[in-house]
Amino acid sequence: MNYAETIKEIVTRISPSPTVYVHSFGCRLNVSDGNSLLGKILDMGFAETEDVNSASLIIINTCAVRENAEKKVYGVIGELKHVKEKNPDVIIAVCGCMTQEKHVAEFIKNTYRHVDFCFGTFAYKKFPELLYNALTKNEFQCDNNEYPNDFSDFNLYQKSVIKADVPIMYGCDNYCSYCIVPYVRGRERSREVSDILSDIRTLTDNGFKEILLLGQNVNSYGNTLKPPVPFSELLKQAAEIPGDFKIRFMSPHPKDMRKDLIDIIAEYPKLCKSIHLPLQSGSNRILELMNRQYTAETYMEIVKYIRKKMPRCTISTDIIVGFPGETEYDFEETLRIIKEAHFYNIFSFIYSKRTGTKAADLPDYATAVEKTSRMTRMLTLQREIATETYAEYVEKTLTVLFDGSSKTEGLIAGKSDEGIIVEAPGTFDKIGEYRKVRITKSHNWALEGVILNF
Ligand code: SF4
Repeated sequence: MNYAETIKEIVTRISPSPTVYVHSFGCRLNVSDGNSLLGKILDMGFAETEDVNSASLIIINTCAVRENAEKKVYGVIGELKHVKEKNPDVIIAVCGCMTQEKHVAEFIKNTYRHVDFCFGTFAYKKFPELLYNALTKNEFQCDNNEYPNDFSDFNLYQKSVIKADVPIMYGCDNYCSYCIVPYVRGRERSREVSDILSDIRTLTDNGFKEILLLGQNVNSYGNTLKPPVPFSELLKQAAEIPGDFKIRFMSPHPKDMRKDLIDIIAEYPKLCKSIHLPLQSGSNRILELMNRQYTAETYMEIVKYIRKKMPRCTISTDIIVGFPGETEYDFEETLRIIKEAHFYNIFSFIYSKRTGTKAADLPDYATAVEKTSRMTRMLTLQREIATETYAEYVEKTLTVLFDGSSKTEGLIAGKSDEGIIVEAPGTFDKIGEYRKVRITKSHNWALEGVILNF
């Protein structure tokens, strides 16, 4: 049965202009999955709405990375009970990483009777059938089986008209001891090079100016392909596609950051000179407990090689503070690496226990007060470093892609090739093109300047 066609008939019978509301939580890859799903639903004849109360179909695309995130999602699902009471015809579905966990799917089934169906991270292909059943049968369904991904149903729908997300791989084989991703997203599997390059051509032919290649662990891309294709080769081929656009990628793992990859980034102007390299901790003892598979020394060798090959390349990172067993000495090691690496930005988290991960069973002596004070000390140090780093850009000229308005009246905002937020006086017609900007002022989170090429 062509579910999509049949669904179109059914929903237009229920409402002449059916609408869909999709809310995605979590990482960029999960948001991209949500957009791909939205693209398929729009192709079924729905229109998108930002108003959950008037929607004919509601999709909550969940994230399971931290227990706090889950609590937030349960809050949102609970609230939908009132929407269903007002509009009994609305179809409510829950998907994403949380529903890949069997016990969570069961909990949703038993606790939130207003949810019609849920599906996991492998079952996007089953969505039309699940929706059809929800429209024709009044019974709860859940499909969180692990299906082999062939990515053939990936939809290129994007929320932006300037920047586009292109997933290149799914899953992760690293099993960092604090992380739930390998359990809810499965083993690593990569899309074919030809499919990814064709997506990039389609998007850039349609005017997209920046492509973000996405994966839980992009630099182990291609290991599952036959024959295997290194990530550096994919980047090289993508950077050789003609056109006025640039390429970024997220997120690499330090253990797979090889020199050939850094050499390719240095060689091709299309590849943005900004690398996000999650460190997590500067202590080798903690890195081992996290099962990160590198040391602070090997991490710094990568940083030094990046700086040697691309002196203006910026590096940002992720740091977990208060991992179980972290001592004051371990934390000092993290501060030492932060001073040495000179990150332009740190995404920082206080460790939050995640049931189902190895770290959840580790003894944790540090108090919440100690962890918060460590976080404060780390952010204070990083603010000092960022203030220094950003000040070095004053009087320099950067290439910036403006993609929206700033919170400050009369300014537009964008990101430079180095990944730094830049604001400048300008109007909407300046958005969506690469502009040369001379930097006149620096803050510790962004730069300000004047556009040179109007
Ligand atoms: S690399 Fe580690 S932290 Fe990242 S998704 Fe994989 S298991 Fe999680």
